[in-house]
Amino acid sequence: MKQFDYIVIGSGIAGLTFALKVAKYGRVAIVTKKHLTEANTQYAQGGIAAVTKPTDSIDLHVADTLRAGAGLCREDVVQTVVEEGPDRVQELIDLGMDFTREETISADGERFYSLGKEGGHSKRRVLHTKDATGREVMRALLAALERTPNVSVFEDHFAIDLITTAKLGGKMENRCVGAYILNRHTAKVETFCAPHVVLATGGSGKVYLYTTNPDIATGDGVAMAYRAGVAVVNMEFTQFHPTCLYHPQAKSFLVSEALRGEGAVLKDLNGNEFMDAAHPMGNLAPRDIVARTIDSEMKRTGTGHMHLDITHKSAPFIIDRFPNIYRTCLGFGIDITKEPIPVVPAAHYQCGGVKADVDGCTELPGLYAVGEVASTGMHGANRLASNSLLEGLVCAHRAAQSVLATPQPEVGVRMPVWQSGKAENPDELVVVSHNWDEVRRCMWDYVSIVRTRKRLLRGQSRIENLREEIRQYYWDFKVTADLLELRNIAQVAELIIGCALQRPESRGLHYNLDCPGHDETWAQRDTIMQRELAFSITVGNA
Ligand SMILES: Cc1cc2nc3c(=O)[nH]c(=O)nc-3n(C[C@H](O)[C@H](O)[C@H](O)COP(=O)(O)OP(=O)(O)OC[C@H]3O[C@@H](n4cnc5c(N)ncnc54)[C@H](O)[C@@H]3O)c2cc1C
Repeated sequence: MKQFDYIVIGSGIAGLTFALKVAKYGRVAIVTKKHLTEANTQYAQGGIAAVTKPTDSIDLHVADTLRAGAGLCREDVVQTVVEEGPDRVQELIDLGMDFTREETISADGERFYSLGKEGGHSKRRVLHTKDATGREVMRALLAALERTPNVSVFEDHFAIDLITTAKLGGKMENRCVGAYILNRHTAKVETFCAPHVVLATGGSGKVYLYTTNPDIATGDGVAMAYRAGVAVVNMEFTQFHPTCLYHPQAKSFLVSEALRGEGAVLKDLNGNEFMDAAHPMGNLAPRDIVARTIDSEMKRTGTGHMHLDITHKSAPFIIDRFPNIYRTCLGFGIDITKEPIPVVPAAHYQCGGVKADVDGCTELPGLYAVGEVASTGMHGANRLASNSLLEGLVCAHRAAQSVLATPQPEVGVRMPVWQSGKAENPDELVVVSHNWDEVRRCMWDYVSIVRTRKRLLRGQSRIENLREEIRQYYWDFKVTADLLELRNIAQVAELIIGCALQRPESRGLHYNLDCPGHDETWAQRDTIMQRELAFSITVGNA
């Protein structure tokens, strides 16, 4: 058994920020299922939204966030995150984060940070490092981690399930005391225990066939929390990014909204623009509107993609401002300075998640959730672009403060070792890969950008069948990362559909043709999925 003061599951912006802040006060384990850098954070392009110029204001950033959130944000949370954002961004800069600055030097000799503009923002306020902001965030945080003692990093370690005192059959108040972790090198399941366990496992884009997310985004934290009886809320709100590169060899490459911020326009394959007719903000309308309009144009014209055109800007400008996108597209034979970029919408961001407050506290003592895995009320029914890195930074900082202010008692319970029982080595891997594909295709076909009740019910019954098959497989065979992820995407699919069926209206990212308008009685109301706990004390998949 490995014992720590803090177990942090996930090594993106939220997990690393938390770990750096508590390391002075106790032993920290960072558990991450692949390499440290394999996180959604690494792939963020556009940047971090924060008020850094006198021409902008906290009130405007709050108002933009609330407008995008379509009546479902928690205003106090938004206010806190937006207000504290600039200080947290300054801390990143102090750690060595290198944001891009403007070319011109002001009268008093200063070069201000270059601020991008993205959909739904009324001002330029997105700090960025060219078009690869996430890579620079990770570089800065990992460099700081190297200088920090007291942190043990466990790469290629996969968190399977949380350990709670209820699950262990204790008589004390239920709380989280650790996690079972699969060491992918030894294929053994290890017991990690600590009085504070932090879920920083990111989102769940891989639940859908098309996604901008890297392979790690399988909703593991949401699935683990749900299995432990913690409330999961508002999972119907998956944000579909309007513009993912459409190319047979390109896997999940995002074409940042910042291109539209710099003047790129969406066109159908005959070169006709269509966003101005759809929304007063045209190409910079909020993401849900843009994704839905593209989806409907694709259906209307019977095509598999649309075009994003920035060729009217000069080649040197495009190459300097978007070097990553330019190079990547060129690698696929598309010169974005000369031709439009083929794009499709794809699952991008999970607005719902594990119910947590702005300090990362969940309903289960000892368990915290920060970053994309958490639903704090910051994003409501639709996340405003570049607000997620901001939320990750602010909430991880606040979670660290809160944990340090309210220490949990020592674990003090004996933890049984994981039993693999008679589970055999998986001999039918093809079943796992087939079910992976089925879950993701089913969600894309029945539960994506435009929904109907009939399609949701159809999706629900398909996912239930698949879950039964996966359950059987889980009990019969030794666990592998592929199987665990499959079990989690199927669980998250069920939660998304369950929440979508609860909401009898369309709001933000949840658009249901059967009830296309808002139902005002559902403003400020969350959809909730919570499992009733009826544990027989089984540890492992034996
Ligand atoms: C292509 C792309 C572009 C984006 N651009 C922007 C942007 O410009 N601005 C913005 O604000 N947001 C952007 N986002 C969203 C933003 O990147 C994420 O919301 C944010 O990085 C999430 O950070 P996180 O720390 O919560 O999770 P992540 O960065 O995703 O980290 C999750 C970590 O958890 C680990 N993990 C997951 N499950 C397990 C498990 N079972 N066991 C062990 N470890 C596990 C993963 O390996 C990973 O280390 C973008 C997202 C994508 C995909």
